[in-house]
Amino acid sequence: MSRSYSRGHRSSRKNANKENDPMMATALTSFVRREFIERKKSSMSRKRPLIEREPDCSAFPFLGYQVNLPYGIQPYTTQKKMIVKILMGLNRKENVMIESPTGSGKTLGLLSSTCEWLCKHKQRYSESVYSCPQHGENAGAYDVSMQSIGDVLKEKTNESQALNSDKKPEASSSGIDEFGDESRDIFDDSPVEEPDILTKAIAQFDEDQNATFSKFMASQVDEIESLNKTVNDSSIQQPACTCEPRVRVYYASRTHRQIAQVVKEFSRLVYGHRLRHTILGSREQLCVNEGVRASHDMTSRCKELLTNENGVGCSFREKLKANFPQSSPKAAARMREEVSITAPKVWDVEDLREALTSDHRSGMCPYFTATRLLTVDSDIIFCPFSYLIDPIIRESSDVHLKNSVVILDEAHNVEDFCREAASFQFTDREAVNSCHSVAEKCMEIDVAIKHMSKEQAQTEEVFAMESSTVAQARDQLNRLGEYQKNLNIMHRYLSAMHSWILDISNSVRQNCENSEQTQRQSQRGGIFNAWGASQASTQWDSGKRFSNTKHFADLYASLERHQLLLIEEKLAETIKGSFAGVVKTTVTGDEAQGENQDFLLSKFKPSSEAIVFMEKMLHFQAFFLLEGCRAAYRLNIAMEEENSDGFATQKGYMEQVGGKKDQAGFLSTRNLMGIKVPEKPRVLDGWKATIGLWCMSPSLAFQGAFSTTRSVVLASGTLTPSESFEAELGIPFQHKLEGEQVVPEEQIFASGPTGHQLVATYNNTSGENSIFAQEIARICLSISERTPGGVLCFFPSYRLMTSVTGVMDRMGLMNKLRDVKAVFSEPRRSSELGPVMEEFNGTVRNPKKYSPRCTGAIMFAVFRGKVSEGIDFTDELARCVISIGIPFPNTKDDQVLEKKKFNDERKTKCPSDVTSISGDAWYTIQAYRALNQALGRCLRHRNDWGAIVLVDQRLSHQLSPEAPNKISRWIRKCLRGYGNYGQFERELTNFMRERETLMSGCPDE
Ligand code: SF4
Ligand SMILES: [Zn+2]
Repeated sequence: MSRSYSRGHRSSRKNANKENDPMMATALTSFVRREFIERKKSSMSRKRPLIEREPDCSAFPFLGYQVNLPYGIQPYTTQKKMIVKILMGLNRKENVMIESPTGSGKTLGLLSSTCEWLCKHKQRYSESVYSCPQHGENAGAYDVSMQSIGDVLKEKTNESQALNSDKKPEASSSGIDEFGDESRDIFDDSPVEEPDILTKAIAQFDEDQNATFSKFMASQVDEIESLNKTVNDSSIQQPACTCEPRVRVYYASRTHRQIAQVVKEFSRLVYGHRLRHTILGSREQLCVNEGVRASHDMTSRCKELLTNENGVGCSFREKLKANFPQSSPKAAARMREEVSITAPKVWDVEDLREALTSDHRSGMCPYFTATRLLTVDSDIIFCPFSYLIDPIIRESSDVHLKNSVVILDEAHNVEDFCREAASFQFTDREAVNSCHSVAEKCMEIDVAIKHMSKEQAQTEEVFAMESSTVAQARDQLNRLGEYQKNLNIMHRYLSAMHSWILDISNSVRQNCENSEQTQRQSQRGGIFNAWGASQASTQWDSGKRFSNTKHFADLYASLERHQLLLIEEKLAETIKGSFAGVVKTTVTGDEAQGENQDFLLSKFKPSSEAIVFMEKMLHFQAFFLLEGCRAAYRLNIAMEEENSDGFATQKGYMEQVGGKKDQAGFLSTRNLMGIKVPEKPRVLDGWKATIGLWCMSPSLAFQGAFSTTRSVVLASGTLTPSESFEAELGIPFQHKLEGEQVVPEEQIFASGPTGHQLVATYNNTSGENSIFAQEIARICLSISERTPGGVLCFFPSYRLMTSVTGVMDRMGLMNKLRDVKAVFSEPRRSSELGPVMEEFNGTVRNPKKYSPRCTGAIMFAVFRGKVSEGIDFTDELARCVISIGIPFPNTKDDQVLEKKKFNDERKTKCPSDVTSISGDAWYTIQAYRALNQALGRCLRHRNDWGAIVLVDQRLSHQLSPEAPNKISRWIRKCLRGYGNYGQFERELTNFMRERETLMSGCPDE
């Protein structure tokens, strides 16, 4: 039993008699906080780590686990059920789906159950390592020394490498290999996997300049196969490993702001003291270099600084590197001690930045510390979704999902997120620029090699053969040669891609040009088959844009025609290998510090645009070639006129990039070496061709990320309707919980349709002064007059929102509304939301400042917008949510249309598959999920109260007890329909009055 675990028991017993005393809890919390600040002050002067007391807790038994919650908290029924479901799921390596409305203690429930399970698992892990026939003798306890596990692994690795010098140690099922020895350069931004075998194969390849792309690639396969054979023949027998896998918890949420809230909750738990954590964030959150922070693209700026070729370095990075050159468990432990001198045990991003740049130890980079160093020994890692789901970000981050427990909080949009993560988009310009950049580097390196070979011959004449200078020069040449081959493979692939893009875009363009006349005459909106294929459709959105979407079979055929279909897994691997070979030595140049040959290589680094483009294509190929996944893809080609201040007048390729390259200083190099890079044309002058490789199935990205995890926990306040998750994500959720809102029913006034026969369809709502808009205008005014504090009103589109506010203006209702509420509209740009929210909150809290009769504010917003998700409208900030219509996705959106078609096709193919859902079912689920999400803004904790008003006749079927569960259960239970608007107004008035009187003396939690 670990030290921290026994301490937890003592703490639990000690507090058992205080559990029902909330006042005591508050007093204790403030005492702990004060004590912490005092200690922090004195320890800063002592420069010693702060010894911080564990927060007080209350332990509750569940399934043999003692789950600790902050002292004084009595778990709600929903929380108890959630904890049990999670513990069961983790024990059985199964997945869990939790719907738990805000205010029901979701985050605490998720964290406490998972952390308690992890603490117990760590004991089991330590015990299993001791008794393992393979690792037992040398292994140490998990908590006592992380290093001991690393030592065991190193020994094992050395042993294995001595026996089999060509073989990279394979990850064992125990998971020790994955995490036990994670020493790597902290600053290495390259993909984590290094295909050594492939790099060697490529190095041995005798390039045939005249071969076609496919012939060229095919010749690689034999080399690789023979190498693999050598590897397999020399495999060795070892006693079976019986270690439990090491488990790490990844807690992901949508935004950094949500992550910050979760970390705050983590700090309230004893587990914050028993488990090590880190936070994966971007440079925007973590960089402390003021010069870089001023840049609009901090990532590129930081990378530029860190490259050897042009970079001047970053003092924060240098200092970190000097103190912590490797990211080993020992180094991580040392860093944690450093951080704890000024930061609390559970630090957040701000604390870390402060700790690493405070006076006593100024100037270490928090970005590399949090994302490369502290990841090594972390038990729990907090991060945004993208770090886990997006394959490109995941591969370049220190993320290891095998055997891990993954919590996806606020996961109601995870399906969309996954589809986007497996979809790739690029422009013809991007392809052309990438191709050019690599071609240029190929030529430069060619000239350099010729030049150096000549020098080498002269040197060998002058020096004796065994001279170290000669050996060094040879080594340098070999490295350049290897790099050149990787670059050549990359160039050939990009050239083939370029031809493919020209081909597909041109055929669409020609078809469109032929039909242009007809199209313009018959007004916009016509649809025709540009490719003659039954599944393809071309759509004119306006005179300046047209797009064509093709079925996966056509996409497959066109890739095949251009020999780009890397069906042979090994061909794909070879390209991947050559790309990794290029990126590894050139992305940041960090590995090259002080070494001449790598400094040389970084001169031949292709542009970051080329690297990003290659990454996208390789990830697409990886998905597209997976068995059974191909059918999920659609190819969309969109052509649109480039705006005049953009790139409208390019004629040829050199004209486009020439000026830019001159400014970047590339031209001088090119002139010096006498290189002339061949021109490559774009699809059409003055037009931008965008190629979209759209993925229709979220399961590709989801399974790509989580197929080797132990358990996935999906949680949100709004998973209803939940039936699509299993079908769409492609994994079973063995444990499900449909949450109850902890707010007592009488605190929700959920009214049904108003009886005005209001149906927010396009036909009913179009037109400047539609009856519908007039009715909504009256309803908004009437509700605002009866509701104190804040009112939120959600519309299915900006169009309808503008139409209603316009009608209010014309009918003179807006002035009446402004008499009682300050009026706000959701801004279109995210950057403008902050100030608007500040003003909204200020007016609700202090309405008399606005006008003498003002009682609060009203916010007009749209479903799926910035206001409908992720913003808490606690207490008086939202006493009423008015929901207009049903927010169905836009039927004119190509992706929505394709997604519906895709689901229908899948359903028709396997009618017996009850888990798959039709296009219409998917479409409806999207609408109701967005609706529920917006309605959840109103009630944020157990003492909160408010009215929810649903305005649309089509929702009346939800009043029936037999209705399918489309609206969240906690709202459904309180739904009432009104045939008479007067009755609704009276009840609303009474509800508001009663609530104000009842709750005025009741403190909020
Ligand atoms: S190394 Fe760190 S501090 Fe320096 S620019 Fe990059 S992210 Fe910023
Ligand atoms: Zn073992």
